[in-house]
Amino acid sequence: MTAPRPILYLDWNATAPLRPEARAALLAVLDAPGNPSSVHAAGRKARDVVERARGEVAALIGAATERLVFTGGGTEANALALRALSDGVDALLVSAIEHDAVMQTARAGATPVEVWPVTAEGVADLAWLEARLRRGDRVAAALMLANNETGVIQPVAQAAALLHAAGARLHVDAVQAAGKIPVDLAALGADTLAISAHKLGGPQGAGALAFATDVRPTPLWRGGGQEQGLRPGTENVAAIVGFGAAAKAALAALPDMADQAAARDAAAARLKAVGASILGEAAPRLPNTLCLAVPGWPSDRQVMWLDLGGVQVSAGAACSSGKVRPSPVLEAMGEGALAPFALRASGGYATDASHWSAFADLWLDGYARVSARQRTEVA
Ligand code: PLP
Repeated sequence: MTAPRPILYLDWNATAPLRPEARAALLAVLDAPGNPSSVHAAGRKARDVVERARGEVAALIGAATERLVFTGGGTEANALALRALSDGVDALLVSAIEHDAVMQTARAGATPVEVWPVTAEGVADLAWLEARLRRGDRVAAALMLANNETGVIQPVAQAAALLHAAGARLHVDAVQAAGKIPVDLAALGADTLAISAHKLGGPQGAGALAFATDVRPTPLWRGGGQEQGLRPGTENVAAIVGFGAAAKAALAALPDMADQAAARDAAAARLKAVGASILGEAAPRLPNTLCLAVPGWPSDRQVMWLDLGGVQVSAGAACSSGKVRPSPVLEAMGEGALAPFALRASGGYATDASHWSAFADLWLDGYARVSARQRTEVA
């Protein structure tokens, strides 16, 4: 019997494996009872660990602890932000490449949504924004810091400057950026900024919204006074503590993340040599993300081939409940024709050059078989 192939996980943008630091911190808390709102010693201990985690998470994104609330994940943090920013505006300008957590929440609200286009490289079009702001009505905008499918980093600081000059606010979904590149709320000029624990090695089901001095979110629901009344309900203490530990480790490891780009690009060069396109390649990108497409080899078949060979990647993020639909991100970039063939590989803190090269080996092997078959069919 041959030994099973080791599983190679390259789908960190979907979720990152729990960091050992986060696991240890989380497990320690699970065994300690205590509601952070209780006044006895166990309650005070729970409050202490939550506040320590708040400091760790705030440090990762340059936020003030008194303006950071924990949520049940990135989706909820985005929803809380959009509720705050859409109040009293005539339109919400939402970039065409936003995650469903932003796009669908915005569309479900009462404020009309206008889609803010992106360039062919997947970068939000600042000229469009400038022209739109000249109309002079009251707007707010949402622009993610880095795209989950292509990894393309957005010109958030420039957008914030344009918006602020027009008296408008900006929400930044930094869920994919936090822990992969430096994130600083003030330097970005974000009025609200959302992050999620599980994308940076914390547990699933925890997130945070940070906000600037003059923003006052309104809660999505009512209840107790937890999280300044902005997120009523007993805190998920263990998840928050795991989030804090992950954020601290991620901040310390940021320089290592930057080093990932070289291994990713070496793998990309090999795929390009046989005709694959790298989406967003000419734009600044996250160091860990590779979005590629090659006509003739559908995404789901690529995912299956790689999975059988022990490499786990994604057919693009336009996938929920197990269903894959054409990626609105690639469509917005004018690459709709490539969307059925797009694949996303993404690494993280435990990924090294050997993983990227094993991914490229297996992909090239699969592609050689597909193209040989196509050549036979044509002949
Ligand atoms: N925003 C972006 C850019 C994401 O990639 C994701 C998750 O895929 C989310 C928001 C949602 O975060 P969560 O899974 O924590 O709700």
